[in-house]
Amino acid sequence: QMENARRPIQVLSPRLANQIAAGEVVERPASVLKELVENCLDAGADQIDIELEAGGVKLLRVRDNGCGIDPEDLPLALARHATSKILTLDDLEGVASLGFRGEALASISSVSRLELITSTDDSGKGWRVVAEGRDMQPQVTPAPHPQGTSLIVRDLFFNTPARRKFLRTERTEFSHLEEVFRRLALSRPDVGFSLKHQGKLVHQLPAVTADQDAAAAQDASMQRIARLLGREFMDQSLVVDSEASGIRLHGWVGLPVYARAQADRQYFFVNGRVVRDKLVAHAIRQAYQDVLFGGRHPVFVLHLEVDPQVVDVNVHPTKHEVRFRDGRWVHDFIFSALHKRLSGALIGSEKQPVTPATY
Ligand code: ADP
Ligand code: MG
Repeated sequence: QMENARRPIQVLSPRLANQIAAGEVVERPASVLKELVENCLDAGADQIDIELEAGGVKLLRVRDNGCGIDPEDLPLALARHATSKILTLDDLEGVASLGFRGEALASISSVSRLELITSTDDSGKGWRVVAEGRDMQPQVTPAPHPQGTSLIVRDLFFNTPARRKFLRTERTEFSHLEEVFRRLALSRPDVGFSLKHQGKLVHQLPAVTADQDAAAAQDASMQRIARLLGREFMDQSLVVDSEASGIRLHGWVGLPVYARAQADRQYFFVNGRVVRDKLVAHAIRQAYQDVLFGGRHPVFVLHLEVDPQVVDVNVHPTKHEVRFRDGRWVHDFIFSALHKRLSGALIGSEKQPVTPATY
């Protein structure tokens, strides 16, 4: 028995290793969209255009006007554990970019037909690399492209039928895609976004330039929120902006009367990254405790800014979770900022008019 069970240990082929890793980061088209757009943001793009077909399964195209990739680096862009964002453990501990694991493109290219076209300048000349889910040296060929990068992902899961089976209807996949889009677009009002599905323009969000002016920045985020979550959200929300040494919380929290039966419309960003965190959720719940009844859920779009050194984002491959070095401090800061704001609003009874005529 034991004799038969013992087989030689072998190193997995890169393709299989990538497909196994893909199981963690590429659950569905929406996860591909998240990874691709995060790369655009890390590349410093201020315009990101997305095209989808058939719920993103047939086609997912993301184009940015960021820094582009040098042709010498192109083969590595699709290699696993290859990244331009960190080099040392010190870098990892202070990482400010959204990506750093160097896994997304390797994973995605192992379960789809992927094409990347990029240019680092405005000469019109660029480079193209194609991967078809096979083990092969990606071939780099010249191709025209304006400054920036296009990632084209076709036939997601074409070679992994087990994964493909778990996909839902195009409509359901599209609603997941749209939710990811909403989060990313809410995270960066200063970046322009567009989203097309089946050739139809679904969202067009102009970049709202904020300069250095805090009031202008607030205005920009209001316009973005109003477009994505509706005017009502803005009209029923209070502005929050609290700062202590080394930490800042800003954004919008819904009035208690505007709370919802479901815990949707809750967006919390830590240094620009959307997170679901128990500690944060608890602090917010506590802040609403005296003003919210009947198991209802508040709405919010909140941005927490802290020194990257005090937050660990390397908890899970999808980076939806974070760990704070001093959780108590973060919890109490969020709680008191919101508690003060909410009780102040109720005592003053009338909501301050915060809605300018600009959207
Ligand atoms: P990570 O983002 O963790 O570094 P990825 O697999 O997502 O890993 O991307 C690998 C590398 O490819 C990145 O580090 C970056 O150098 C390059 N890259 C990917 N997408 C883009 C893009 N849109 N613009 C510029 N460079 C990109
Ligand atoms: Mg990435």
